[in-house]
Amino acid sequence: MAAAAEYDVIVLGGGANGTGTARDCAMRGLRVLLLEKADFGVGASGNSSGMIHGGIRYMLSDRKVTALACRDSGYIQRIAPHLLFRIPFLMPFASRGEEATLRDRAAWYATEVYVGTYDLFQPLKRGKPSTRLSAEELYRLEPALRPGLRGAVTLDEWGIDAFRLCALNALSARAHGADVRTWTEAREILAEGGRVRGVRFRDVLTGEVGEARAPVVFNATGAWSPAFARRSGVSVPMRPGKGVHLTLDRRYSSYGVILSAVDGRQMFVMPHESESIVGTTDDDYYGDPDDLEATNDEIEYLMEGAASLLPGIRGARITRAWCGLRTTLYAYGPNEDALSREHQLYDGAREGAAGLLSLVGGKLASYRAQSEEATDRILALLGRPPVACRTHEEPLPGGDAVPDPEALARELPVAAPVAARLVYRHGSVARDILRLVEEDPRLGLVLCRDEAILAAEVVHCVRHELVRRLQDLRRRCRVGIGACAGVDCARLAAQLAGRELGWSPERVRAELADLLDAGWRERRAILDGAQLAQEELVRGAHAAAEVPW
Ligand SMILES: Cc1cc2nc3c(=O)[nH]c(=O)nc-3n(C[C@H](O)[C@H](O)[C@H](O)COP(=O)(O)OP(=O)(O)OC[C@H]3O[C@@H](n4cnc5c(N)ncnc54)[C@H](O)[C@@H]3O)c2cc1C
Repeated sequence: MAAAAEYDVIVLGGGANGTGTARDCAMRGLRVLLLEKADFGVGASGNSSGMIHGGIRYMLSDRKVTALACRDSGYIQRIAPHLLFRIPFLMPFASRGEEATLRDRAAWYATEVYVGTYDLFQPLKRGKPSTRLSAEELYRLEPALRPGLRGAVTLDEWGIDAFRLCALNALSARAHGADVRTWTEAREILAEGGRVRGVRFRDVLTGEVGEARAPVVFNATGAWSPAFARRSGVSVPMRPGKGVHLTLDRRYSSYGVILSAVDGRQMFVMPHESESIVGTTDDDYYGDPDDLEATNDEIEYLMEGAASLLPGIRGARITRAWCGLRTTLYAYGPNEDALSREHQLYDGAREGAAGLLSLVGGKLASYRAQSEEATDRILALLGRPPVACRTHEEPLPGGDAVPDPEALARELPVAAPVAARLVYRHGSVARDILRLVEEDPRLGLVLCRDEAILAAEVVHCVRHELVRRLQDLRRRCRVGIGACAGVDCARLAAQLAGRELGWSPERVRAELADLLDAGWRERRAILDGAQLAQEELVRGAHAAAEVPW
């Protein structure tokens, strides 16, 4: 084993909080090591609803959470303007019987006042104020809604690609001097005399084991946190909650629609790029976080809720069922969706592990503020003087001078829709990616009809975005994740990645199988009818094709 490298802080976990904290610590001049046991965003962050919202649901019980998330949402827009997209939601008004009763009208009025109060927070995140829609206006905007609705109120929110958000934070941390290792699992905390001294880790791909030394370890391992900290004798109280989402093969609504599930819990259907997302369940989860899969009844629960307002959705092809674990603060008694979304930092000093700091709870939408607070605490634990945080003003990679996609399409060899997709995902870096096409026109090939992934984008991600496995490209540029499940793009992407990374033909084959398996895990519970036929097509296409070596 090589001599242990020395750092000020070792950050565990490549979700939004781990990558955000690694970035902040590196920007404030600390020597940082970030370890992620798989790839950026594979936990709750990438499997969240991806909303950089204020959490209107929490306004009554956790006003602080709403205010913090709205303020941070405004900052996230400033540092990654290309990566956010507006999602206007409709909250339709229904009546129980043929005629609207006084009770129905009172409920609609209460909703309108509630959303009107949320409007007070909207300027923090450049949100538009709500509007009351008549039934006629509602059906003009969203004709697919079931008949008989009485109107609606609008609600303005923002969405993000959370996988890219995590990757960009990690890339920025690296650009500020951090060492970043993916597919590297922290196995053990090293401690002496009640103080943390570092971490023993293992590279999951090569089997290499090593040690790194630091007086502070920041545990941002999400739902894995309690079990990981327990190995060091530290308790991290948490009540993990499983949330399932479905992706449908096309847009079934033009706007986000907020609706009630069969048990009255709030859920939504929203358009996302060329697809729709239905979400989400919220149930206590006591299993292994590594063994998380959607079940048939969770899928039926979501589809039943979605069909209650959008009946046509029953004919949809579900292309993925994906899930994550909320890392909610522990409380005995409340239903899952009533649990607080506040966050807390636990200091291991009380339990003989001084220097081990763990984060529980919080929101994706306030990851930056949570990371700022964690970094303040890390500086204090190190006995360093305070250094001002700059993560709310310094853009993430690509977040500066974001080009206009149409101008880019005129200037460089690319069709306008492909340029728009590239700019959305890469911001100003889209220009560098298109320069690759100028140098080698073959890289102008569009690999996937669903997602318009350019060969040049794959090459760029492999060269510059810490890609170690083919499946990392699912998260960097959506290889194999669209409605075609990889039938178009997976093999070509494997070929490009293999060439860039010097993989043998056997390794290319193994990576391709692993990529298809990752997709299979998200489809197992939804396979029937058209989806089963698509599955056969994908398997057949890859079995019949030669790996190009
Ligand atoms: C279904 C669902 C929907 C949600 N929707 C929203 C939303 O729309 N908006 C919002 O603001 N919030 C939302 N949230 C909450 C939000 O996703 C989380 O608060 C946030 O993503 C937590 O990020 P994290 O970095 O703490 O954890 P995670 O993203 O879970 O990251 C933990 C990481 O640690 C890694 N890890 C684990 N063990 C080790 C180890 N030993 N060594 C190295 N690495 C390790 C894991 O692989 C993982 O990548 C949602 C959550 C869920 C589950």
